[in-house]
Amino acid sequence: EQEVADYMKNLAIRVSGFDVPRPIKNFVDCGFPVPLMNAIAKQGYEKPTTIQCQALPIVLSGRDIIAIAKTGSGKTAAFVLPMIVHIMDQPELEKEEGPIGVVCAPTRELAHQIYLEAKKFAKPYNLRVAAVYGGVSKFDQFKELKTGCEIVIATPGRLIDLLKMKALKMFRATYLVLDEADRMFDLGFEPQIRSIVGQIRPDRQTLLFSATMPYKVERLAREILTDPVRVTVGQVG
Ligand code: ADP
Ligand code: MG
Repeated sequence: EQEVADYMKNLAIRVSGFDVPRPIKNFVDCGFPVPLMNAIAKQGYEKPTTIQCQALPIVLSGRDIIAIAKTGSGKTAAFVLPMIVHIMDQPELEKEEGPIGVVCAPTRELAHQIYLEAKKFAKPYNLRVAAVYGGVSKFDQFKELKTGCEIVIATPGRLIDLLKMKALKMFRATYLVLDEADRMFDLGFEPQIRSIVGQIRPDRQTLLFSATMPYKVERLAREILTDPVRVTVGQVG
């Protein structure tokens, strides 16, 4: 009985917002193009996870989202898959025009994990993914960004440095993801996040993922998201 109670708790789903798109049951319900469906299958993803069922149709509809779910629930694909669709919907990039998708993550390890996941889904479309974080040569990252990319995965500090160096332009960025927002705040990145958000056009789509929603993160969400849908999966501390 305890097992059943724990199971129900874990599955607790709360959704709030206006005109929320209905959750999907299968990846095919997302209307993904064939190359993306093949990449999903290649990953061995048979069914979307609970957060993916809720978040994918919301993000694909172009809405801003606050998605709260614990680690390991499959949040990365929930923002990477719609990011690919979003980018493929934009006009072709000229060299050096800057990224369309920008993902901020708290640590280089997390940024690297997201980079690997993004690469897998970007590959069938030959989209260029750049990873930008500390501990690696800033000059190499500068050169890579200068050659152009459609997706940047970054830790906030290093992204700010490279923006100051004019390694990339943000005027094409229309899809912004703040992943593990609570951890970015814990690490003191609030000013950097605010600076990055301030450099991205206001008609962007903004996605905020977090395991918890402390007051400071809530306050930022209210400032930078437009009519967001909020999805919470499971017990959140
Ligand atoms: P989170 O960001 O919520 O901590 P991740 O996106 O890192 O979670 O995903 C956790 C693990 O689940 C990863 O190994 C990922 O490859 C796997 N995963 C994600 N989505 C699916 C799916 N639909 N089916 C099976 N495995 C999945
Ligand atoms: Mg994650």
